[in-house]
Amino acid sequence: MEKAYIDARFADIGENYKRLKDDIAEAAVRSGRQPGDVRLMGVTKTVESIYINHALSLGIDLIGENRVQEYLGKRDELQLDGVEKHLIGHLQTNKVRQIVGQVDMIDGVDSVKLAREISKASAKKGLETDILVEINIGNEDSKFGIDPAALIETIDEISGIENIHIRGLMAIPPINDDDKKNRIFFANMYKLFLDIRDKKLDNVNMDILSMGMSGDFVNAILEGSTMVRVGSSLFGRRVY
Ligand SMILES: *Cc1c(COP(=O)(O)O)cnc(C)c1O
Repeated sequence: MEKAYIDARFADIGENYKRLKDDIAEAAVRSGRQPGDVRLMGVTKTVESIYINHALSLGIDLIGENRVQEYLGKRDELQLDGVEKHLIGHLQTNKVRQIVGQVDMIDGVDSVKLAREISKASAKKGLETDILVEINIGNEDSKFGIDPAALIETIDEISGIENIHIRGLMAIPPINDDDKKNRIFFANMYKLFLDIRDKKLDNVNMDILSMGMSGDFVNAILEGSTMVRVGSSLFGRRVY
């Protein structure tokens, strides 16, 4: 790549990061919290390592990758000291062994079966793995995640599985240009989050509520998100 192109993209990422930090802080305060109560995850799928490293150099300390293969392929090129890594995409059970121990958290746990596979792989490696449970908050056929109606019993079941720890919930609600409708899904997620937290189940820490992406993170924060996953608004439009 030409240096001028790289420099221009670095500048864009710098401006985007600054704006995102301001917007996140403002929404956190509007929701009655502190700016530091909401974490920004840089979503790095399809982004080349040079741009990810630039974002890390600016202070991003949390990244999310969707695909096991892509992450493992890029990882050695990344400056990951002090950076928290999450796998955020749908994880197939046959990929579990490759990823356990390579990331700090697996965010899209959408079935008891997957939780059991992560448990088995963790036990084999002598590890404990932190997970988020993914909820299909809009009940969409096209989306992964646990049916909200089955959430409590599913969490209860997963919480009894060894070598994994539930740290919170994540969701990708239906896309909706209507702010009001968009916020209802986030508000429903927050209710589930509180319901489960109030149950104080063994081996369940409800401290992370991962919701909100480039197009809707402000709404998500206003409804209680503690972690927003931002890709295109940070790195620019994705080229697949
Ligand atoms: C790609 C992706 C994101 C980020 O999407 P943007 O709209 O680019 O911010 C967030 N969460 C998940 C699970 C993703 O796959």
